[in-house]
Amino acid sequence: MGGNGKKFCVKVYGCQMNVYDADRVRTVLCSRGWEEVQEDEADVIMITGCSVRAKAEQKVWSEIGLYDPSWKKSQRPLVALTGCIAQRIGVNALNRFPYVRLVAGPRHIGLLPDAIEQIASHPKSRINLLDDDPKEFHSLNFDSDNITIKRDNKHKAYVTIAHGCDNFCTYCIVPYVRGRFVSRNPEDIFSECRMLIDDGVKEITLLGQNVNSYGKDIGLNFAWLLEKVARLEGIKRVRFVTSLPQDFTGDIVDVMAGIETVCPSLNLPVQSGSTRILRMMNRKYTREEYIDKVKMTREKIPGLGLTTDLIVGFPGETEEDFEDSMSLLSEIRFDLVHSAAYSEREGTPAATMEGALPVELRLERLNRLNELQDSITLGINKALTGEVFEILVDDSAPKGDGLLQGRTPSDKVVIFEGSKKLLGQFVKVRITEAEAWCLHGELV
Ligand code: SF4
Repeated sequence: MGGNGKKFCVKVYGCQMNVYDADRVRTVLCSRGWEEVQEDEADVIMITGCSVRAKAEQKVWSEIGLYDPSWKKSQRPLVALTGCIAQRIGVNALNRFPYVRLVAGPRHIGLLPDAIEQIASHPKSRINLLDDDPKEFHSLNFDSDNITIKRDNKHKAYVTIAHGCDNFCTYCIVPYVRGRFVSRNPEDIFSECRMLIDDGVKEITLLGQNVNSYGKDIGLNFAWLLEKVARLEGIKRVRFVTSLPQDFTGDIVDVMAGIETVCPSLNLPVQSGSTRILRMMNRKYTREEYIDKVKMTREKIPGLGLTTDLIVGFPGETEEDFEDSMSLLSEIRFDLVHSAAYSEREGTPAATMEGALPVELRLERLNRLNELQDSITLGINKALTGEVFEILVDDSAPKGDGLLQGRTPSDKVVIFEGSKKLLGQFVKVRITEAEAWCLHGELV
């Protein structure tokens, strides 16, 4: 039992930003004597959810409903609904479920530990933190530099460098639920990175909705930050997600090319291959400008691992627009494409645009696109057979005894046989076989 006798459980749905926020809250609660337990023993369950897609939102609604029988029997657990989903549906959840006692969005993370303690000590209280200024960000600072941030992977960690987004792409809910763009103080970022390196972390991924905008609001820039982090003593690998093409500039590429610890991997979401659709999405680049940036980056960084995000079936997308996306895939040959059929998010401009496509057509296009990309990915991966890569061993492979998995500098998953003693180490692996989703190899 923890020092204060209170028990909590955290359930996270959604992106790395949610995982990162939840890990920090777990860290503070444990440092205050709370015990982290399975959900059936918890006094308070914190559900951190995503609202970027309708499906993720439905999952969280049904998750909250699951606590009804236990609440009727024992008046436990109290539920704290947090993350971007709470910003959107928190008030409804508060009204609908008597056991939802706290709702808070991503901007309120710094207020969460106190608020959770308050609902736990005054079980009749209900706290709604949502109704405040969207420009306000309550960061969560630790009382001591010696704290170990709770996280599931010992060797790799994410570090948030900015919150929110000001870009208002017309399909995206993020600026409404995560608030305005705010860069984190660089000294806080460096000290968090140093804390992680001291705790054995080898690879740090800098995280933000649009990392390339870092510093615009505080007179700094992302290339500067990336270089500083990449030169911290003891760091082995640095990555960053996500980049916005219009803000991805040559100085960032120079840092990637010039410092060995910055991995040659880049996620550069294009979203569509049609300049007409990009305009409707409020993305501020053309197809040609995107292609030029990719060429410039590949020239300076040979062996770059390049992935993208792409939406098909945006309102008004014609067969010709869709073919522009298909031809872009063939022209650029991405290593991986995170594709999605467009789904309406209430409150965004695209949700009320004319020319919505039938869902079946969106899915049919998605299948065609995935089929093309799978063959491209497989071709790229097969060409790597026989090459040797340095892998950071992440974990046991999900299927197969005695198999480990890790990633190449270009961020490809490699599965190979080896002892668990290698977890967290760098090893050399020769690629022996390729699939679209992963590579297989043997220790050299
Ligand atoms: S850049 Fe566009 S897609 Fe990305 S979070 Fe901001 S609004 Fe959403």
